[in-house]
Amino acid sequence: MKLSVQWKQKWCISMLTAVLLMPVMSYSVSAATETSTTSQTTAVQTSLPKIKILATGGTIAGSSESNTDVTGYKAGALGIDVLINAVPEMKKVADISGEQIANVGSPDIDNAVLLQLANRINELLASDDVDGIVVTHGTDTLEETAYFLDLVVKSDKPVVVVGAMRPATAISADGSFNLYNAVKIASNPEATGKGVMIALNDRIGAARYITKTNTTGTDTFKSVEQGYLGVVSGDKVYFYNQSTRKHTANTIFDVKGITELPQVDILYEYQNNGSYLYDAAVASGAKGIVVAGSGNGSLSTRSSEGAARAVDQGVTVVRSTRTGSGVVTPLDSDAEIGTLYADSLNPQKARILLMLALTQTKDPTTIQSYFEAY
Ligand code: ASP
Repeated sequence: MKLSVQWKQKWCISMLTAVLLMPVMSYSVSAATETSTTSQTTAVQTSLPKIKILATGGTIAGSSESNTDVTGYKAGALGIDVLINAVPEMKKVADISGEQIANVGSPDIDNAVLLQLANRINELLASDDVDGIVVTHGTDTLEETAYFLDLVVKSDKPVVVVGAMRPATAISADGSFNLYNAVKIASNPEATGKGVMIALNDRIGAARYITKTNTTGTDTFKSVEQGYLGVVSGDKVYFYNQSTRKHTANTIFDVKGITELPQVDILYEYQNNGSYLYDAAVASGAKGIVVAGSGNGSLSTRSSEGAARAVDQGVTVVRSTRTGSGVVTPLDSDAEIGTLYADSLNPQKARILLMLALTQTKDPTTIQSYFEAY
């Protein structure tokens, strides 16, 4: 009996507790429901962006016997899997997969690799399975590849080209962090529609503007006149600017089906030069010549004669500058000889635009308009 009273008391207490706790329990249930909804939402929100890394070689994939060797190493020695496995932190930022396009030092990146890379990127970005691309590349000609892609990638999805100045085997190698940053940039929704970007030394550069300025320093990529697009700092990506020039989905250039690009050579202006290099370029099949002119794209008298002969033979000659920065402006001599001016494109990027321009037209006025638009 005593027991039964105790049991009854217990039962009453339990019932009371149950009633009192009802709102709490129902809160808990709804909290549980919310939690599961949240975790579902979280699952959707945090489903990681799918980033494809296309490897082409360079110092970022470079290797040496010595960890203090930062000049005599072999560029393009390590494969894409090694690069990805060296930075497992990237997998928290994005769903990563990789492909090897080439494995060379970037002086050996040629038009065939450019076309292969561009076509593959266009193919990948057309698919819902890829949200962004990172290209690993040697720094020597990185800006040329980046600008080429800037002109021919037909998508607003982010494309980031990344390299390193110290091989992967060096003390304080910069490649791993540059690659991590590149993946973070390509995964960032704000990177959409920014054109092809370059990620080195925590800076985000526009392919149109940035250039390699130093032989060995890790801060080699500079955008002197136009500035950077943004920075990666404290684990966050910050965008501040964007290019005013047409790029990616807004260009008229399309490399689909193109198997060869026209030969465009670069000639360098210097004291006491002759005109014979123009003749040699034309004789070897050049359809275009870019001159790294002195100052505001100036040509010597002999150079002007060579340029005039080239133009007479149907070759497009564009004046850029060897100064490293500044705008090359129109001169009266352009009208006299038929030369064009490169705007603010350095010679190596002017060559890229001229190759693509010549896939469209030979008309000098139209080609000049491209140099003002892109
Ligand atoms: N030194 C170069 C680099 O920084 C080599 C290359 O361009 O492949 O990657």
